[in-house]
Amino acid sequence: MSTQFLDTPIEYLKGVGPQKAEILKAEISVFTFKDLLYYFPFKYIDKTSLSEVKDLHPEAGNVQLRGKISNVKIVGVKAGRRLSATLRDATGKVELLWFKNFSFVEKALKEDAIYTVYGKVNAFKGAFSVPHPEIKLYDASDKENILPMEPVYPLTEKLKSRFMDSRYFMGLVKHLLLHPDFQLEEYIPESVLKPLKMIGRKAALYYIHLPGDEKTRAAAERRIKFDEMFTLAMRSEKNKVLRLREHNGIPMNKSGKLVNEFYHNHLSFELTNAQKKVIREIKSDMAKGSRMNRLLQGDVGSGKTIVALFSMLMCIDNGFQACLMAPTEILATQHYLTLKDMLSEMPVTVDLLTGSSNKKHRQSLLERLSDGSLNILIGTHALIEDEVNFKQLGLAVIDEQHRFGVAQRAKLWNRSVLKPHVLVMTATPIPRTLAMTIHGELDVSVIDELPKDRKPVKTLHREEIYRGEVMAFLKRELEKGRQAYVVYPLIEESSKLDLNDLKTGYDVVCSYFPIPQYQISLLHGKMKSDVKDFEMHRFKSGITQIMISTTVIEVGVNVPNASVMIIENANRFGLSQLHQLRGRVGRGAEQSFCVLMTKDEMNYPSRKRIKTMCATNNGFEISKVDLELRGPGDVLGTRQSGLPDFKLLDLVKDEEIIDLAKRASAFILKNDPDLSASENQALLLYLQQHQDDHFWSRVS
Ligand code: ADP
Ligand code: MG
Repeated sequence: MSTQFLDTPIEYLKGVGPQKAEILKAEISVFTFKDLLYYFPFKYIDKTSLSEVKDLHPEAGNVQLRGKISNVKIVGVKAGRRLSATLRDATGKVELLWFKNFSFVEKALKEDAIYTVYGKVNAFKGAFSVPHPEIKLYDASDKENILPMEPVYPLTEKLKSRFMDSRYFMGLVKHLLLHPDFQLEEYIPESVLKPLKMIGRKAALYYIHLPGDEKTRAAAERRIKFDEMFTLAMRSEKNKVLRLREHNGIPMNKSGKLVNEFYHNHLSFELTNAQKKVIREIKSDMAKGSRMNRLLQGDVGSGKTIVALFSMLMCIDNGFQACLMAPTEILATQHYLTLKDMLSEMPVTVDLLTGSSNKKHRQSLLERLSDGSLNILIGTHALIEDEVNFKQLGLAVIDEQHRFGVAQRAKLWNRSVLKPHVLVMTATPIPRTLAMTIHGELDVSVIDELPKDRKPVKTLHREEIYRGEVMAFLKRELEKGRQAYVVYPLIEESSKLDLNDLKTGYDVVCSYFPIPQYQISLLHGKMKSDVKDFEMHRFKSGITQIMISTTVIEVGVNVPNASVMIIENANRFGLSQLHQLRGRVGRGAEQSFCVLMTKDEMNYPSRKRIKTMCATNNGFEISKVDLELRGPGDVLGTRQSGLPDFKLLDLVKDEEIIDLAKRASAFILKNDPDLSASENQALLLYLQQHQDDHFWSRVS
């Protein structure tokens, strides 16, 4: 019954009709009664206060005035034609003006009657006017003359031109909300709502449009935001329940010979407490018998690789193989070299597979992979090709996960009978609550501590006119035996313009650092991979002092002796990219520097990005600013990740509500995983109606 009413096409609403309905559909996608009720005001105006004409001033903004109307006339010609009327109160007079579509107003305005008007004050040559005010005939007996908080709806030009203004919307919505057929059943059990002090669903919808005061408005908003998150949370919590229930994860509870040997004999540094904590979390996950699906967040340089290595050793200790997938060839190669080096005295086999692995190597590698003699396979997305078959893959580690789609990842284990544990690592940390929302089905671990005696990178901003000084500074650092990166933006690897930039930049740097006294490497994505490898190798081994490159070095490259990073046209980089780039230095014991060079005039977001970079080294803080500047949609690619567009919920600011919704979902499913209890029937029905039926049918 209730749904039928809400699903009624909008043209059947009193005051709408076919013509206005077309506009509502085309302009703001309002097709049904329900759509209209979920078309929320974006602000509210307090109209309880009346201003007097004598108090008007140019910055008065929106005001409400009450007075007698006189002098209603059309003035001006052609484009200047307008309707003018005078409003006079006890303290003075002000002109009301209409420039467009005023024939209706002209007819309706009654001379000598008292009106309440509302609008924005305009000052012109010392005289005040109110263009296009809202007007209402004053009726002293009407208590509803003034609403304490009047909703203001987002309007388009077209809507305005048809007099479909906030008042109009308010009227329609009010009619619906008070209609005897309007029902909105509660679907969350009272036992959950009550302790959270959530108001009912129907009340919330009423008060979001027509709040009596700020407190009621806030309560309504809180409930609606909660609902927006709750369905999502229920789904991811349910997925978790299903995953844990499957119990077809590979139990890895043999405590490790290899792990111990590595820990006691081959680890060259002390693990940080954060690393130890995360390794324990992973160990307990993998031992459980259900599948691990864990996200490891850690700032650049926080030491995620070693955590991955320990996890892989645990896996091998239990008789399974492990793989590590990285988004670029450079990064995969580097992981390979690092791990091979670390494992050089261990009875563990490691190999590398990328797009450019040669045929012969590939052949032998695939054989060793399928007969189980290869323990660890590292590589790029070449790992997901069909011919790559593990004997028994037990753990898949995925580095820099934002570069891989979920479907791509899943290909890794589509062919396995036993599904491997999964560890995804990201160096783009986002606030924890947000991470849990975006990656609802993942457990989240955080390394929130950098290795001891790591000196924070000093970051400076320099404009182009100071290039001489910057180059002189660079020279001093190189003389101390350090190395440096100079990075150019290459927005698209194929862009000729950017590539020219890079080459000009190369010439500029060469002019300051002549060969043969200095050796300079050049690296960009268009180069053949053996040339890239060659250049990387020259830089890593210290043959070249300066590496000029595009952002191909952005992710994960590790050369501890490199202590200076110069970022050219820094204003053209995004925040997380700048932070990633900076993470390439500060990896050794020496003081490192990052110089952000700019030559263009900067707009606000660029200035803010540069300022933030100079102010903090903390990736979580940086991601917060990034989220503020760009919004979660762009930062996280939420559309790709299948997150809905929230109407009220703000993924960054509403941490408390997100958390509540998550906990409420977990609580409900903990007590009633199949939603079979009678008090949860309304909820089950609601979820079936609001998400794919299939999913929630699978529940029972
Ligand atoms: P990221 O988290 O950015 O992937 P890496 O795993 O590449 O960081 O680690 C950065 C550097 O720090 C590496 O050279 C690594 O060997 C070193 N490292 C990792 N953990 C520690 C630690 N606990 N103490 C000292 N150095 C460490
Ligand atoms: Mg890394």
